[in-house]
Amino acid sequence: MLINLNGKLVDKKDAVVSVFDHGLLYGDGVFEGIRIYSGNIFKLKEHVDRLFDSAKYIMLDIGMTKEKVIKETVRTAAKSGIKNGYIRLVVTRGEGDLGLDPRKCSKPTYFVIVSTIQLYPEKFYREGLSITTVAVRRNVNEALNPQVKSLNYLNNILAKIEANNHGSLEAVMINEQGYVSEATGDNIFIVKNGKLITPPLFTGVLKGITRDAVVSIAKKLKIRVSKKVLTRYELYTADELFMTGTAAEVIPVVKVDSRLINGGTPGKMTKKLMTEFKKITKVMGTKVKY
Ligand code: PMP
Repeated sequence: MLINLNGKLVDKKDAVVSVFDHGLLYGDGVFEGIRIYSGNIFKLKEHVDRLFDSAKYIMLDIGMTKEKVIKETVRTAAKSGIKNGYIRLVVTRGEGDLGLDPRKCSKPTYFVIVSTIQLYPEKFYREGLSITTVAVRRNVNEALNPQVKSLNYLNNILAKIEANNHGSLEAVMINEQGYVSEATGDNIFIVKNGKLITPPLFTGVLKGITRDAVVSIAKKLKIRVSKKVLTRYELYTADELFMTGTAAEVIPVVKVDSRLINGGTPGKMTKKLMTEFKKITKVMGTKVKY
């Protein structure tokens, strides 16, 4: 496995960063997870745009243009030879001292890993997943806005631990107002009376690129889509439920806090959207020349 570390392609064993890197010491940095389907990088521009927005929020100068980040990502994918996989793009504040002050970090660290990922076992894509709402609240917008894809995922990890402790693979995070925000690494959708509903960004949600892709697919299929606040009540009484994310893709949910959704089987609209999503991943994307 080759890793692009600050522009140099190195072996996995040589892909090491300093213990003084603030990405490690403080989670001070930003990242993206991107998929490659059949040698095409899916929604690369959208991911790089989001990376730069996250960096802007935390006042991190990536030190490269978007075009250069795209070029480095494509180059690493080409060298990897991986045609169906997952890319992790990370930019940290870089090496500093033991204080928090980011001004002491003179140069950001970046790396690109091209590998594979399987977030949930395959059978759950056919049978649906069971999820749990957790006590850990979603970060409030004015503390660390969940639209920022920062390296600080402890809020999500605490939620994941709680779900795991309940024997569940995934957690749904509720925000301080009691509204549903998102899962630890995925966005949430419900289907109610033929309409598709997903929580609006202000409830503490990452603007998922898969979420946006599913919304545009639904609109093309003339399905009505709305961004509305949801409580646990709407989850429990949904006709269908599914989650979206780059790593997870589109995955059906058939149980929330022991309440069965659609009798415990993936719903019709969910299955249709899964099929259509698969189709667009086959025809879209930035071509990699291997
Ligand atoms: N929410 C969170 C917290 C995530 O980490 C992710 C994965 N990036 C998502 C939602 C889904 O976003 P996307 O579809 O862009 O991968």
